[in-house]
Amino acid sequence: MSDAAPSRTRGPIETLLDEVWREVSANDEGTIATYIPELAKADPATCGISLATLDGQVYDAGVLVPFTIQSVSKPYVYALALADRGQEAVLEKVGVEPTGDPFNSISLDDRSSRAFNPMVNAGAIVTSTLVSGQTRAEQFERIHSGLSAFAGHELAIDEDVFHSERTTGDRNRAIAYLMRSAGLLDEDVDEQVEGYFRQCAVLVTARDLAVMAATLANSGINPVTGEQVVPRDVVASVLTVMATCGMYDYAGEWLYRVGIPAKSGVSGGVSAALPGQLGLGLHSPLLDSNGNSVRGVVAAELLSKRLGMHLLLPSERTRSGLRRTYRADAIRSRRGRPRAHRAVLDVEASAIVVHELVGDEGFASTELLIRAVLDDPRPARWRVLDLRRVTRIDTAAAALLLSLVDQLTADGVVVGLVEPRTMQPRTTLRALPDTVHRFADADAALEWCETELLREHGIEDDMLEGLVPLAAQELLEGLPDFAVRAIEERCTTRVITAGAIVFDEGDEADGLYFVGAGQVAADVRIKNQSGRRRLSTISAGSSFGELALVDGSTRSTRIVALEPTICHVLAPDAFAELRRRDPASAGELVLAISRSLSARLRSSTADVAAFEDS
Ligand code: GLU
Repeated sequence: MSDAAPSRTRGPIETLLDEVWREVSANDEGTIATYIPELAKADPATCGISLATLDGQVYDAGVLVPFTIQSVSKPYVYALALADRGQEAVLEKVGVEPTGDPFNSISLDDRSSRAFNPMVNAGAIVTSTLVSGQTRAEQFERIHSGLSAFAGHELAIDEDVFHSERTTGDRNRAIAYLMRSAGLLDEDVDEQVEGYFRQCAVLVTARDLAVMAATLANSGINPVTGEQVVPRDVVASVLTVMATCGMYDYAGEWLYRVGIPAKSGVSGGVSAALPGQLGLGLHSPLLDSNGNSVRGVVAAELLSKRLGMHLLLPSERTRSGLRRTYRADAIRSRRGRPRAHRAVLDVEASAIVVHELVGDEGFASTELLIRAVLDDPRPARWRVLDLRRVTRIDTAAAALLLSLVDQLTADGVVVGLVEPRTMQPRTTLRALPDTVHRFADADAALEWCETELLREHGIEDDMLEGLVPLAAQELLEGLPDFAVRAIEERCTTRVITAGAIVFDEGDEADGLYFVGAGQVAADVRIKNQSGRRRLSTISAGSSFGELALVDGSTRSTRIVALEPTICHVLAPDAFAELRRRDPASAGELVLAISRSLSARLRSSTADVAAFEDS
């Protein structure tokens, strides 16, 4: 183990890689490929394992010796061809069907007259002629610089291996001639095959293969250099052929056991990309009967199992999504407001709803939000989407959010957006319409919604600075403090918009009303006519509905708010409870009501019925 790489402090990831390295190194089964004579010189004991993260951290175990990339170049050159020519042009010549034939089979897909796929030699040779470049030399330059960009540094070429393969590569020439006969290659077959041999002779280490894979896993951006090597939209195509055809005749079992799209080559390299997570590079020249690195295959399987990296394993991440939904009657903005305003908000702010999302938003978490909105049994006038802690928004989430916002807006709901702190989701959300109100944090959004709500109730910021408290209510004048407090504790607040009916003739009595702010009118229907006659107006500091507390009968007048009005209301059951618990205070109130009624009786010369239940 004296040849084990770096000696710096090794953490849990290196420990894991070291363990895997030790386990697989003990295995010396397999044989070195010799059909290219130079390859036979490889040291059978060599074994290197590298893991690259998507922020460019690379962990290694074992020995990082250079070796020729061979077939591991195929998916990367395929990516370059897709980037240069587009998917359709490439598909015209190279299909994506797995084949049960060996990698160097002299065959093509007769049904479509194309090479079966870019991972077998026939497809790879054609693919290498599809990258951009006027001449074969220019095309090779594109391949060389492209592979180097995937690795993050200029890669050397092993001229000895190149010459060795050129000398013995007749089978590949035969394949190329077959491709030319099908119209998939043009004139100079030899030159084209040589370009392919040179591509196979590019030198890499396990570390390079890890970074190359991580570049695919990272949407085509090399995580070490930050370079966008190929566009994001080619990545899925490349990973698909790696997953289905990348491991020779072991591709199915590899996907089953390891579950990470990968490509192997005859020099013992494996490059495996787990999208959105990491890249793996493995190297050990001893090959199994499928032509895959014996240690590479076992190491990948061990790592995949220990880290739960199978691509098709359902995600375990649950922290993303809808964190909570709350209403502004429960959580208020920090803005200090006058008592009268607070009283309105106490009652009405449940119409402001905040949905707080966290983490990476995808289909599942957005569906959860949609359900929370659509299944909400309580109406909302304002919905704030608090996306401050959202770290990513994928395509599905972006499309669904847009359509949710459109639907809410069409339904007359005002949509607020708390902008994410992170760049990617912030940029994605620029697509939302201008009708969406944007805020830096939830508090600012709440404050704005509250102010809008107050305005919709006719309350401007400078209005209704005070609400006439119970202690200052005419009806309770002279009552001892303890009684006022006892009544106050049992009152609720009711906000009535201008023009709204507080209660109507014949309604069940629902309490004694103290007008805190605003003004109401009492009126009755004129017998045998459709009109109404106003009996009185009642403004802040006065009360109405006393009789209901005393006799429990139905209302004999209608009460309409003439302007935005706020009332303190003592409901019949609250009054009953007061009588039970605090008979002294209840007695004071009954006395106060009697005093008020008798005063009104004395001053009345008109019909008693007109104010019997005013
Ligand atoms: N240059 C090699 C060939 O075409 C690559 C084979 C491989 O790695 O699968 O034979």
